[in-house]
Amino acid sequence: AQLDTLDIIVLAALLIGTVAYFTKGTYWAVYGDPYGNSLANGNGAAKAGKSRNILEKLEEQDKNCVVFYGSQTGTAEDYASRLAKEGHSRFGLKTMVADLEDYEYENLDKFPDDKLAVFVLATYGEGEPTDNAVEFYEFFGSEDISFSEGGSIDDKPLGNLKYVTFGLGNNTYEHYNSMVRNVDKYLTRLGATRLGTAGEGDDGAGTMEEDFLAWKEPMWAAVAESMGLEEREAVYEAVFEIAEKPEMDAEEDQVYLGEPNKHHLEGSQKGPHNANNPFIAPIAESSELFTAKDRNCLHMEIDIAGSNLSYTTGDHIAIWPTNAGKEVDRILNILGLASKRNTVIAVKGLDPTAKVPFPSPTTYDAAVRYHIEICAPVSRQYVSTLAQFSPNEEIKAEMVKLGSDKDYFHEKVIDRNLNISQLLEILSDGKPWPSIPFSLIIEGLVKIQPRYYSISSSSVVQKDKISITAVVESVEKAGAPHIVKGVTTNYLLALKQKQHGDPDPDPHGLNYAITGPRNKYDGIHVPVHVRHSNFKLPTDPSRPVVMVGPGTGVAPFRAFVQERAFQAQAGQNVGKTILFFGCRKRDEDFLYRHEWEKYKEALGDKFVLHTAFSREGPKKVYVQHQLQEAAAEVNELLDQKAYFYVCGDAANMAREVNTLLGKLIAKHRNVSETKGEEIVKAMRASNQYQEDVW
Ligand code: FAD
Repeated sequence: AQLDTLDIIVLAALLIGTVAYFTKGTYWAVYGDPYGNSLANGNGAAKAGKSRNILEKLEEQDKNCVVFYGSQTGTAEDYASRLAKEGHSRFGLKTMVADLEDYEYENLDKFPDDKLAVFVLATYGEGEPTDNAVEFYEFFGSEDISFSEGGSIDDKPLGNLKYVTFGLGNNTYEHYNSMVRNVDKYLTRLGATRLGTAGEGDDGAGTMEEDFLAWKEPMWAAVAESMGLEEREAVYEAVFEIAEKPEMDAEEDQVYLGEPNKHHLEGSQKGPHNANNPFIAPIAESSELFTAKDRNCLHMEIDIAGSNLSYTTGDHIAIWPTNAGKEVDRILNILGLASKRNTVIAVKGLDPTAKVPFPSPTTYDAAVRYHIEICAPVSRQYVSTLAQFSPNEEIKAEMVKLGSDKDYFHEKVIDRNLNISQLLEILSDGKPWPSIPFSLIIEGLVKIQPRYYSISSSSVVQKDKISITAVVESVEKAGAPHIVKGVTTNYLLALKQKQHGDPDPDPHGLNYAITGPRNKYDGIHVPVHVRHSNFKLPTDPSRPVVMVGPGTGVAPFRAFVQERAFQAQAGQNVGKTILFFGCRKRDEDFLYRHEWEKYKEALGDKFVLHTAFSREGPKKVYVQHQLQEAAAEVNELLDQKAYFYVCGDAANMAREVNTLLGKLIAKHRNVSETKGEEIVKAMRASNQYQEDVW
């Protein structure tokens, strides 16, 4: 049988995984450090030799509770640290947080019965584990799992293990919360005892935070009962020590002003580049794709030549943002730190298991500008914790009310799209809250996350330049005092304007530090790394493809069509290439309108573009309607083993297309709708149906 791209990718991944597994802890462990701390602090050797034995670690650090996290975007990690803190402050548990990737699990059969393991597990994409939980998931999912003491599954090897678990998922995906559901099943099968329910948070319904808060109270009651713990009055204890260094100057060589790690501080860009070590890439070109005046969509060409970064068509690029100066100023003002923004601070975990999420020494300004998500929606639990640091009793009462009344909180905070400093500013009429410890800002807010973009260029056509197609987020809500300006996309917009010599490079007054730490991003640069995906064209170009990508969902399909046009021009036999694209109006947001014509010239009648404009006629037309109209042809192509792709909006479009396809197949093949659904399911299982949705 022919080996297609996916097989090759799977084989390559297995090989890399195997090599990585056996070499882990030796030469590449420093890059496994999620915060780049080892690089930053120059203790790579110590890190490389560090123990992967959680039992030893618990013993050594005198802990009786470990909170493991499997996190992709930082939320699960945030929940893990919140549980660890709460377990300690309310119940006197001696807690530590642990990255699943940093430990081995073979010895969990020796986990003492007076200790507790907590698993906070996000499900990613199509029911997959997060990158840092892959090994853990494979270990527990394995049919021939074996532990240090030997014995079979029937001997219930985890009979001593008490655990708690919470999952973070999204109900718009088929495999909703499958990570926590499966892990819970595996652990129970192995004889472990769960305390409380296996919690499930739903990002799709927008109830993640409330699901978490509702789950944890009965969970704590069950833990307290089982472990004989008494609840005590929670007192805030800082996790980090912030030592101001007035004797140091921010310009000194060893002070991190936003540099992600030691290599960057020393001015060298040394690979491998990855999530802990981004490449500061030049933006070669940038342009505006919309003609509508009130909305922006950016096309950017990011130059990766000489970086050792590589991509293949269908991959994602991760972009590391810088917070808007306006929001940096706001939070520093509210904390009463504006005059000390450039004071050098050394940040250290007060407990040896607490990791500082950015390199130190640094400054207050650099910490909030480059390393902390200061603009994100506010968590109700965090408001409760902050209440004790209110500037007066009246504000404190309001904070307590917000923290304890779910509906009130939604009305006053969530529905008004406030970030934390906007909320504090409104409550205190702009007066500072100087009692808030800076440690609580680091602990309570998520560390900055890269945003992913589906690469919109073909690696065959332009291997050193990565294109992105990004719509600029600007969300305005009636009655809300602020417009939410997407962190990354507005930063990119500012970069584009600077590149085009705009005298006023920042129309929203967001005031970005465009030249980066120590001017290292000058000349229009942005920190990036590449994340490989399984969203791939068939290896054989003669195989037909059907693509559904409205809005920016068209990004990877521009890459696909670019590649197939190139192959056709090179004389290869390219199969039917059908694209369904939708937007509001032909003259406003029709992405790559003129480029498609060029591809049409190369591909001839092999390329068909179906367009749906939702705001042109009396009736709204979406890609789903176009797909319905072209159903006979699509069905025929699927019969010829066409690959079917969907990219873009996960919440509605992708789900609807999935259901619709089942119905169309049923109609055209004269089978029941249930059978049609089964056919689509089988197509997914064999990768004939692929999704890239967000
Ligand atoms: P953020 O600051 O992250 O804000 C995002 C949204 O969160 C806002 O619009 C708002 O609705 C909400 N929000 C933020 N702050 C608040 C607040 N304080 N209160 C209430 N709500 C708030 N996007 C593309 O344009 N093109 C692509 O090709 C693309 N590909 C992707 C591929 C993958 C695999 C994934 C996961 C995502 C992809 N995205 C793509 C989305 C992209 O990663 C970003 O999410 C998007 O660009 C917004 O980023 P941002 O930093 O500008 O906005």
